[in-house]
Amino acid sequence: MSTETKSLNFLEHIIEEDLKNGLDKNKLRFRFPPEPNGYLHIGHAKSICLNFGLGLRYAAPVNLRFDDTNPDKEEQEYVDAIKADIEWLGFSWAKECYASDYFQQLYNWAVMLIEKGKAYVDSQTSTDIASQKGTPSQSGTESPYRNRSVSENLALFEAMKNGTYPNGTHVLRAKIDMASSNMLMRDPILYRVLNKPHHRTGNSWCIYPMYDWAHGQSDYIEQVSHSICTLEFMMHRELYEWFIEHVYDSKTLPQPPKQREFARLNLSYTIMSKRKLLQLVNQKHVSGWDDPRMPTLSGMRRRGYTPEAIRKFAETVGVAKRDNVIDVSLLEFCVREDLNKSAPRVMAVLDPVKLVITNYPEDAEEWLDAENNPEDETAGSRKVPFSNTLYIEREDFLEEANKKFFRLTLGKEVRLKNAYIIKGEKLVKDAAGNILEIHATFDPDSRSGSGTEASLRKVKGTLHWVSVKHAIKTEVRLYDRLFLNESPDGHKGKDFLEFLNPDSLQLIDAYAEPSLQTAKPGDRFQFQRIGYFCVDKDSNTQKLVFNKTVGLRDSWAKMQ
Ligand code: ATP
Ligand code: MG
Repeated sequence: MSTETKSLNFLEHIIEEDLKNGLDKNKLRFRFPPEPNGYLHIGHAKSICLNFGLGLRYAAPVNLRFDDTNPDKEEQEYVDAIKADIEWLGFSWAKECYASDYFQQLYNWAVMLIEKGKAYVDSQTSTDIASQKGTPSQSGTESPYRNRSVSENLALFEAMKNGTYPNGTHVLRAKIDMASSNMLMRDPILYRVLNKPHHRTGNSWCIYPMYDWAHGQSDYIEQVSHSICTLEFMMHRELYEWFIEHVYDSKTLPQPPKQREFARLNLSYTIMSKRKLLQLVNQKHVSGWDDPRMPTLSGMRRRGYTPEAIRKFAETVGVAKRDNVIDVSLLEFCVREDLNKSAPRVMAVLDPVKLVITNYPEDAEEWLDAENNPEDETAGSRKVPFSNTLYIEREDFLEEANKKFFRLTLGKEVRLKNAYIIKGEKLVKDAAGNILEIHATFDPDSRSGSGTEASLRKVKGTLHWVSVKHAIKTEVRLYDRLFLNESPDGHKGKDFLEFLNPDSLQLIDAYAEPSLQTAKPGDRFQFQRIGYFCVDKDSNTQKLVFNKTVGLRDSWAKMQ
């Protein structure tokens, strides 16, 4: 078996089978169909990578189709954000389509169904209709309006369209089978009256099509070959096919689309319903859709995640037939792997304590060579300033350290990254016993890269540092999981908000090497020995703001 064949997922197997059975390769066409009622999240990214991935594999067009059939919740802001996110992920669509562009065609087809005796206007309340649905084991009850004449149905439907009726007064239903074992086939609703302007069609329509009616027919109009959706739509497939069969016209639109289902992406510690994400935004639990703690693509972008990492994650997760939950640390792993290759290294101290090098001349400074990225030969190097007073990380010093502590303590040597070997000598404390300064001496012959015997000496620990007088003070935003529970969504009787982590955001001041002065929003770095950070859009000329993207190691797993 070639690697090509081995890596086929089950959807690709279905497509290969269709091609073998005579489907013309040039007729392959896919789509990504978001509803513009929120920002895209990592689950959507899975679907985008899948559909656009199929497009790339088969050199087939992929449409971006806005499923904009519900003016109650949809807005232009979301349309714009969705387009920006897909482009950022690195994909380009063949055509930008809108279900709302098909409203007239959908209406014409509905009229045709009425004429064929396959649809009728029901004038009952939604409560009455629901009460007649039956149960999976018990047939539903036919509506008293089910046998209205074609002409009466046509007249009512037209009046619905013309805005004659208030919301909720009539619906158009398909006349299928109230005894079907598939509840969705029990005379599903095609249209409802909704007197509300639409973000694209304005006041043209007073009736709006339901998802099942709009979606499949939009696929058909666009001549999509494979309409890929998530498993919840498995039961909808029968209805999808019923609708296509009843509007099918081999002359104008020869290719009936085929719906196939895959398992949606679920991530631990993560909410992925747009309704709930909107709730987090509206109730100000987060700063907005692009809050770096949000599972949205805009949040992840702001946090410093790369499109490459997200695509790699989607590929690693694969395409499953059954629902499962993916550990969010897999996503973080992919981010870390990618940033390790691309992020320039810099030094910054998040929890500073002063280190004074007593035998280094007080007003001297030197600019030492520092490699930008050991993983990338082309990344070059920069200069970092050294002086007699530095900041190091408070946790990198211990007064009473055991043998396994390889960082700084009194009487022992460590290397300062890109600089010298130093030895802890003495502490200056305040009255309460807090360490104010650590005094150390340095070995002038030990400079990194100088090639001297002293510089090649092996010492166990290496610390990052910044020179106090050269350091720039920055704001750093440290993030923890937004939810403390693995499945915030999965507890009956409990609201997901109960699991919000009250400490998911921590603001600190940090000190960074001066090379960061020119960093721009969106730039990503590795703060050596700490993690990956990216410049936030809240930065200004007075103050840089950094978001912590992810730590160098998976500290969460260790804490559990
Ligand atoms: P939500 O429940 O978050 O509102 P949705 O499915 O209603 O999501 P849509 O805008 O309708 O959101 O989704 C667009 C496409 O993305 C659909 O094809 C849908 O199947 C897919 N999609 C949405 N969520 C996921 C997910 N978690 N995993 C994989 N695909 C998803
Ligand atoms: Mg949806």
